[in-house]
Amino acid sequence: HGAPPRHIASLRHSGLNMLSDQRSKEAQLPKLPMHVIIVGAGPAGLLCAINLLSRNVAGAVPRYTVELIDGGQDYGSLDEGGLQLRRSWMIGLAWPGLRAIRRVPGLYQDYVSKVGVRIKKTALYIGSKKLMQASGEVTSDSEKFLVDRNFIVHSLARFLEERFVRSTGSPPAASRPEKLTLRYGTKIQFVDPDARRVYARGPSGEEQYLPYDLLVGADGVRSVVRAAFVATHRDFNCAVEDIFERFKAVLISLPEGVEDECMHVFPSCMKGMNGIGLVATGGRINISIGHRCHAPCEEELQSDEPAVVAAYLKKHFKAIPLPYEEVAAKWVSQPWSSTTMCRCNFYHSMKLSAVLLGDAAHATSPSIGMGMNHALGDAAVLDELLQKHDDHLPAVLPAYSAARVKEGNALTDVADLIQSYDGGQAMWMTLRQMARIFAHSMLPRLIAPEPYLAIANGTTLSTAYAELERMGRIENIRRVNAAIKQRHYAQMSGLIPPPLAPCVKRLRFVLAAIAVALMAVGYVLVTSSSATASPLPPPSPPSPSPRFRFKYNF
Ligand SMILES: Cc1cc2nc3c(=O)[nH]c(=O)nc-3n(C[C@H](O)[C@H](O)[C@H](O)COP(=O)(O)OP(=O)(O)OC[C@H]3O[C@@H](n4cnc5c(N)ncnc54)[C@H](O)[C@@H]3O)c2cc1C
Repeated sequence: HGAPPRHIASLRHSGLNMLSDQRSKEAQLPKLPMHVIIVGAGPAGLLCAINLLSRNVAGAVPRYTVELIDGGQDYGSLDEGGLQLRRSWMIGLAWPGLRAIRRVPGLYQDYVSKVGVRIKKTALYIGSKKLMQASGEVTSDSEKFLVDRNFIVHSLARFLEERFVRSTGSPPAASRPEKLTLRYGTKIQFVDPDARRVYARGPSGEEQYLPYDLLVGADGVRSVVRAAFVATHRDFNCAVEDIFERFKAVLISLPEGVEDECMHVFPSCMKGMNGIGLVATGGRINISIGHRCHAPCEEELQSDEPAVVAAYLKKHFKAIPLPYEEVAAKWVSQPWSSTTMCRCNFYHSMKLSAVLLGDAAHATSPSIGMGMNHALGDAAVLDELLQKHDDHLPAVLPAYSAARVKEGNALTDVADLIQSYDGGQAMWMTLRQMARIFAHSMLPRLIAPEPYLAIANGTTLSTAYAELERMGRIENIRRVNAAIKQRHYAQMSGLIPPPLAPCVKRLRFVLAAIAVALMAVGYVLVTSSSATASPLPPPSPPSPSPRFRFKYNF
């Protein structure tokens, strides 16, 4: 695809500056054996811990000792009921996440595959019309797997504990118990960059400094480790933003006639609302529906009354049959959810001897369902680089940023800019997408696939980003969305007047139309009366022939 997109090129450039700034720190980076503190036992932190401990050779001096610290509970110790009690959402895993998991022998087969469902089809609903898309032959590029977030964390945590903590009597587990320390219920307050240690508050309020050789920030979107990057590096460019969307999600039994092994997509399913239905284990489906911040949904959906919500859903949600009362009861019992997205220009620090993984580096909108895929991908790439560079951190850390920053920023941008906030532009972009999908199906050798479909089928996000930018879609949508967002926040803060109510807008339109009509009538009356009052001007001399005029002008 030729030259990299402009902002990726500038990221590389700032990355290079940063590398030269940090070169003096290289000499101070620790060597094996290393004590690694991983902050965050989400998917990224857990897979990173598994990968690091897998690098130890049984019977030899361990290369890595790992201290995994999380402010929450150990999900590995919870049963199904306990996992369901905690806030969660459905995750669509595609090739980046599944490949990262499959690199670890036994992890997918014996653990992860047991807690999710494989899907083979996608159903797109336009009103009550359903368009099916079968995946065809499933390859390692096109496979898709749906799993509850808490359940995948549970299976990764169990794998970690059973392989590296609990002695099962099998030789590898028995020889490794001391190399992993788990600290749940412990929150990191800050990083002390000068002494390479973190300040932790434990479950009963006890506080202590914990030293490290390598620090892995896998602590999610509000990362404390990332805050240390901000405090340490003047050239660290980090933007944290609201995804500008509010949504609610309900988990219900799969309604009769609705297909399992299928992802259900509900674009414009109600006024201003988009939705998605992800099937879960146990014959259930998680339906998530949301709206953009500047275009609030209709009042009925904001009501606290289940009966009002149920009646509205019954009337307007046509895609699939729903148990309206049950959905409405779950709908009103929860607040509107939102998440945050973030972009950074590098993911490693020589001075801190630290790396950022997952949402700490590139939290994003769930619109394309790729956040966890790339969080797991980060852990896999870090492991590959440790292998490639013989655990030599001065080579591994910059190589990690070079490999992952472009993917992380492409992830955040592609997910954020998938749809225009402006109705007209959104419609135009959808038409372009459909034309491209049709043209590709007719001339697959000549026309490249739609980039948004390609990312779920083996294309990297940076490649899809480059193609979207080449087509002008990134730039156009970014401009329109940024203006709408800015206007919304200016209105919310009282900087400019609030938006007019729809009825006032309509009245203004009608008045403007009447004014234009009156002006047109007035103009006709004036010109016709002046035509009768004054004589015609004397005839002008004949104009030159076209041939002559051409020569003259030339
Ligand atoms: C509604 C929704 C739908 C989504 N759908 C998809 C999807 O379909 N596909 C997909 O790939 N992704 C999806 N995602 C994104 C996905 O959930 C995240 O990208 C993924 O969970 C990130 O994993 P992580 O390990 O980086 O961070 P997290 O899962 O956020 O884990 C961070 C961990 O760090 C701990 N922590 C935080 N701060 C501290 C601290 N100071 N001290 C100690 N511990 C700390 C937290 O307790 C937590 O356990 C979705 C997200 C949402 C919100």
